Order: sequence, then C-alpha cells, then structure tokens
Amino acid sequence: MNDCIFCDILAGRAPAEFVYRDDWCAAFMDIRPVNPGHVLVVPIVHTALLTEVDETSTRQMLWVGQQVDAALRESGIRCEAVNLFLADGRAAGQDVMHVHLHVIPRFRGDGHHLRFSPAYFKSTPASELKKNAGLIRQRMENRP
Ligand code: AMP
Ligand code: ZN
Repeated sequence: MNDCIFCDILAGRAPAEFVYRDDWCAAFMDIRPVNPGHVLVVPIVHTALLTEVDETSTRQMLWVGQQVDAALRESGIRCEAVNLFLADGRAAGQDVMHVHLHVIPRFRGDGHHLRFSPAYFKSTPASELKKNAGLIRQRMENRP
C-alpha cells in the first residue's frame, strides 16, 4: 500500500468532501482552502507527476476543473474569478505527490498574490526565445 493521503481519500480510508467523481478523476474540497470553495481535482490512479498521467485522465482533469470553475461562479460562494493551479514537482511547490489541479475561487481584495522575482519583468532577447522554442519543439515533435 502506498503512503498517499489522496489515495486514502479516493479509497475511502480518509475523509473528504467530494463534489465529483468518475472513472478517471475526482474532485474534493481542499482541507486548507486559499479561499472558501477551493477544490482539488485528482486522477484516480496514483501518479506523482502530470507527465505520468494518461491522456484521457489528463483531458478529464481539465474538463472537471472547468465544470468546478463554472459551478463555483454559480454557487453563491464568493467568486469573481478562478485560478487553476497545478504544481508539477516539488521545486514548483508540490507538497502532496499525487497530481492535483487546484481550482481556487478569487475575488478582488482577497489578499492573495502570485509573486515573481524581478527577473520576470525584464524582456527576453528574441534569440533566447528562439533557442528555447527550438528545444521544446524538437521534443514535442518526438513525443509518441
Ligand atoms: P500542493 O502544495 O500543490 O501539493 O497542494 C496540496 C494541497 O492539498 C494543499 O492545498 C492542502 O491543503 C491539500 N490537502 C492536504 N491534505 C489534504 C486532505 N487530507 N484533504 C484535503 N486537502 C488536503
Ligand atoms: Zn496517491
């Protein structure tokens, strides 16, 4: 048995408040919401990184994220906008190593901010964009 809180939740061994479930993914309330109504969408099969999730579950996760986004806006929960956020790996801020898409209701003045280093505000030379695009394009073309 793996030591994963989200697998425990999906198997009914740990409590959670579900809002959706199908054969590929499920959505339940985040226990420490950024704002009230914060939902996590997870694949049913334990997968640590997004790159390991099968194509159907990946598509389904975004679709469920969209449905939760729409439901939040209609729910009466304070929600002027929504952040979809997925930390893919520890250096990106992933704490629970079972893939999860955060669906976070947002409103002006909620006090939350995404912060970037000052490097973000400098524009990148076209040559560097071209080089990096080439590196990514090459891998994209060689994907199965
Ligand atoms: P991340 O930092 O992107 O890995 O996010 C992990 C999220 O999982 C956090 O927002 C936690 O509040 C949430 N979380 C951790 N344990 C539970 C749990 N037992 N039930 C619901 N959400 C959880
Ligand atoms: Zn898991």
